[in-house]
Amino acid sequence: MGDIEQVIIVGSGPAGYTAALYTARANLRPLVFEGWQWGGLLQQTTDVENYPGFPAGIMGPELMQQMRDQAERFGARYVTENVTRIEPATAPGEPHTVYVDDEAHRAYTVILAMGAEHKKLGVPGEEELGGRGVSYCATCDAAFFKDRATIIVGGGDSAMEEAIFLAKFSSKVVIVHRRDEFRASKIMLERARETANIEFMTPYVVEEFLAGDNGQLDRAVLRNLDTAETTELPMHGAFIAVGHEPQSEVVRGIVDVDPSGYVLVDGRSTRTNVPGIFAAGDLVDHTYRQAVTAAGSGCQAALDAEWYLRDNPAVPTPPSLEGEGDLAEREWGATLIDREPQRGVTRSV
Ligand code: NDP
Repeated sequence: MGDIEQVIIVGSGPAGYTAALYTARANLRPLVFEGWQWGGLLQQTTDVENYPGFPAGIMGPELMQQMRDQAERFGARYVTENVTRIEPATAPGEPHTVYVDDEAHRAYTVILAMGAEHKKLGVPGEEELGGRGVSYCATCDAAFFKDRATIIVGGGDSAMEEAIFLAKFSSKVVIVHRRDEFRASKIMLERARETANIEFMTPYVVEEFLAGDNGQLDRAVLRNLDTAETTELPMHGAFIAVGHEPQSEVVRGIVDVDPSGYVLVDGRSTRTNVPGIFAAGDLVDHTYRQAVTAAGSGCQAALDAEWYLRDNPAVPTPPSLEGEGDLAEREWGATLIDREPQRGVTRSV
């Protein structure tokens, strides 16, 4: 086993790379286990037009490459492996251990940023037409379907919200849902119902997505669950909104998660119930799920980890974090650890 790291980051979407950037700039030399599929969900998208700072848009994979390079420039180190196990510290201030198979890496702080995956329907054509008409993010891709016919699959709040957003661009949006009842909140359902160019088809499931001659999505085969009849619906875009799956398997039983598997954090912080383990991005967030919000929460996790290292008396303060800190650090740092103020940190009231 090598030296004890200050920070290990698990995951490499916008949250992971932003946490890497901030902790690298604090001279903590973060070790990032970015996984085989580094870059997270944005690697699966094409144009990203809603990430601030890129007025002409940027391709998802390029954005992730740039985030990765930016953190590396300040000293982030990458391991392109999947973490297989995490063992929390057994005593306050002791390091946590992160495993890649039998290889153990110890760190005083661990930032979890494994993200979430879109749930898939698992029907023929879905994977093949991904990025060619089949999408999992209307917020990202709706503008590509201006004046085109689209469908949304799902009956939850995400489906309603995506449909309402999509309806601003598409000529027509059909919400295809497998039941006549909806899981969505009443208010969201009503809003969708009141939108002139949104229609509903229930109880239907998608059996298959089919391409046209140009290789793009052209139509879908839908089956009525009451009558078993099938029908072909022409469309240019299909948005799947049947939920997300947080990638929290590796920390189940280690940190608290909610019934859907999202990691639970303390209030507006990124602190999990295990001191020194923080969580950020889509792994904790089932509401906003945007690249920019994930990046923001990666920044928060980095600062929470820095303050833990600086303010926890049981952990040796890294040389780069010695000093008084700034006003924000004083305000938040004082709330982090229940201890007497020291090193110029004043407790806020
Ligand atoms: P949900 O789990 O709430 O809904 C998923 C929907 O997809 C359900 O209607 C479900 O059908 C359907 N579904 C699941 N699997 C399949 C499948 N294989 N084939 C067809 N349909 C399927 O997920 P959401 O992402 O909608 O919401 C997650 C959470 O985020 C919720 O708590 C929600 O309230 C919240 N949210 C809030 C928003 C807001 O308030 N503005 C916006 C977006 C999300 P069935 O009902 O039959 O199980």
